[in-house]
Amino acid sequence: MPELIPNIIPRDQHPISRNLISPSALKVMHRLHSKGYEAFLVGGGVRDILLGKQPKDFDISTNAHPEQVHALFKNSRLIGRRFKLVHILFGREMIEVATFRGQADEQSNKSETKQSEHGMLLRDNVYGTIEEDAVRRDFTVNALYYSAQDFCVYDFLNSHNDIKAKQVRMIGDPETRYREDPVRMLRALRFAAKLNFEIEPNTSAPILSMAPLLGNIPAARLFDEMLKLFMSGHAVEIFENLLHYKLFDALFPQISHTLNSNKQAAYYKRFILEGLRNTDNRIRAEKPVTPAFLYATLIWPEVNRQWQQLKSEGVPDFPALQQASQSALQKQLAHISIPKRFTLMMKEIWEYQIRLTKIQGRRPFQLIEQPRFRAAYDFLLLREQAGENVNGLGQWWTKFQVKNPAPVHKKAPRRFKNSKPRPQQHNK
Ligand code: ATP
Ligand code: MG
Repeated sequence: MPELIPNIIPRDQHPISRNLISPSALKVMHRLHSKGYEAFLVGGGVRDILLGKQPKDFDISTNAHPEQVHALFKNSRLIGRRFKLVHILFGREMIEVATFRGQADEQSNKSETKQSEHGMLLRDNVYGTIEEDAVRRDFTVNALYYSAQDFCVYDFLNSHNDIKAKQVRMIGDPETRYREDPVRMLRALRFAAKLNFEIEPNTSAPILSMAPLLGNIPAARLFDEMLKLFMSGHAVEIFENLLHYKLFDALFPQISHTLNSNKQAAYYKRFILEGLRNTDNRIRAEKPVTPAFLYATLIWPEVNRQWQQLKSEGVPDFPALQQASQSALQKQLAHISIPKRFTLMMKEIWEYQIRLTKIQGRRPFQLIEQPRFRAAYDFLLLREQAGENVNGLGQWWTKFQVKNPAPVHKKAPRRFKNSKPRPQQHNK
């Protein structure tokens, strides 16, 4: 590898100061320094502070090997197979420490790196220098190193220029790097949306044709990546880009098919967009968002298509919906694994689309008290907003709730040691 000379940005020419860095991350770096190791803040921590944003987490890069880091911190654990890392816990905060990754070559031990038949990196545990580490990272904006020893930022790849030009640029040959790890295509979209950057043309060019490679990524890894994409507060923009680059096809093939071919395609697209717009608004307002609602929205086009189909074949309403839910979920889970606690809630949200139509007598009063009512009602409103004719049902429930506010669920009373036992209530 040709030698990389870093551009060293001194303290007075960048905005990173110690009070913008988590004290735990500083502690980790100082301890590593005191034992004679190099240690830098790297990745999103540096990038976000340079852009005036608050980093989500702080990652440290060091020349100490994982076992050496682990030995230095009682509160740490070794994790990962694909990439060995050390997690150091400070209360609820976790600092991730990675050893400089090196370039794998013929001499490197075969047990330390491994590639799949598609050129995908399955393991990458060859250690190296900081220069080698920089070129193994994904995008230039993610490859800046801040030293808590001399307070300088080390820029090996002209990252600072890309930050100024607001560009997400792949390090090295984009095609090779996407082949090594197709998730980088999703990361490119995520950083572009999050930072309000453009994807540099050479970096975006291969995505369309390489999108199918996402099919080789384990379903469990994709669940985490999807949450990062859709819970970023930029879900609408990201969804449009996933469609544009045909990444959505690889992640949600059934839904994608429905969005392209069904006669109600325009309605379904509006429905998903409305749902994602709501999600973005909630995230920005710091309100909670459940992955179950998100996935219930994304997969609904296929559930609804199958439900209507089964009904037209004579299957009664409720079993048709249950069968459609089960079948649509099963197909989707082959691509993205959604934990069971969420799939159960998704099925409930869908089933409630029938329950909410039963508005005679005492039924509405019982429904409104169910834990799933709120999510199911929001889902119904979404269908209505997207232009589906639900016979004014959403409006009906809105009015019903104004007249009959749901009782606030009382918390269990606190018991103090010397409090008297409360008398038992008997209704008989
Ligand atoms: P954020 O935490 O805000 O999502 P980040 O850039 O810190 O963004 P992480 O997923 O925390 O992203 O990863 C930390 C760093 O590790 C990245 O900045 C990048 O340098 C490197 N990295 C992460 N994933 C990959 C990957 N798939 N390929 C190459 N480098 C990666
Ligand atoms: Mg990070």
